[in-house]
Amino acid sequence: MLKTMALILLATTSASGNSVFDHISANKLQISSSRCQNTSYLDNKDHFESVINSVKERDQLKTASIGGLLVEEESVKLTAAYRYLTSHLDYKLRPAKDIDYWHLFKDGQCKDVVCAAKEVFGPETGSFYMGLLLETGLNLSALGYSLLKPPIFQGETEASANTIADFNGLYRVRAWQEEELQGYLEGIYSLPSSLYPLPPTRLAQSTHEHRRGPQVHSNATIIMYPAMLELEKEYQKYTMVHEIGHVIASHFGLDTNPLWFEISWQIDRERNQVLRKNETSFVSAYARQDIFEDFAESFAAFRFNPKSLLAHSPEKFNFIKERVFKGQDYLSESECPQ
Ligand SMILES: [Zn+2]
Repeated sequence: MLKTMALILLATTSASGNSVFDHISANKLQISSSRCQNTSYLDNKDHFESVINSVKERDQLKTASIGGLLVEEESVKLTAAYRYLTSHLDYKLRPAKDIDYWHLFKDGQCKDVVCAAKEVFGPETGSFYMGLLLETGLNLSALGYSLLKPPIFQGETEASANTIADFNGLYRVRAWQEEELQGYLEGIYSLPSSLYPLPPTRLAQSTHEHRRGPQVHSNATIIMYPAMLELEKEYQKYTMVHEIGHVIASHFGLDTNPLWFEISWQIDRERNQVLRKNETSFVSAYARQDIFEDFAESFAAFRFNPKSLLAHSPEKFNFIKERVFKGQDYLSESECPQ
């Protein structure tokens, strides 16, 4: 159960109280100076408004009622996005339930869901959250978590400890402050638009440390733990791309693909264990952990340190290039992936 929540924690080693990201596949300079940085979302103040408008223009219209809001002849996609931003939970274990905002809309001042999102989140945040969700599949809303009761686990075993820890992160989430998102946005928009939208994915800031401690920074739900707030922007950017790598791998079954597996891993049938082979094929120390981290680290290396990935494993480089990046890459002589 919950493959996307288990095994996908990005941890750091630490020295003298500072986080040191020396176990990942790119260093600070490589991340900041990598090619094809896309800042068009920053250059254009109305970027998210225009995303919303272009979706709306091409969409079919329907009448809908969501959590106390009635909208007539509204874009189906915009309605779905608004619902996703204002539902109790979108997680697979439970059906989503709309939060009731009747008190905001009873006077009929909002006739469309963009107005409603601005009413709920604030004028700028409303269109930012909706536009980002439509464009990338990432949902920044922290609404509804306070209404949830974490599931109760019977007993606690070593095996269930990680799941419980992830649930604790998942159910203790707070609203983002906009300045906290800069590094993540740079990570999101450092990837080509052909990768988006992702399957719907929350991006949330947990208020509580992971029970394993501050060396756990994030997971692929995607929950960011408090330790992320201490990291430099480059590493926040890297972590975002690493976690997106998990989301893509999980959705398309790439990290469990036999062709991926056999590059660096083998099964010891006698002991029923997965073992590493080709020790030089791992792009970072963290990639050695398991097939999932191997993929996410290789994915991040493909983006920020492609020469290193190519040197460690041309097979992994080509696997990611062909199956994720439509045959394009970030090597210096090539064009930027679109
Ligand atoms: Zn990971």
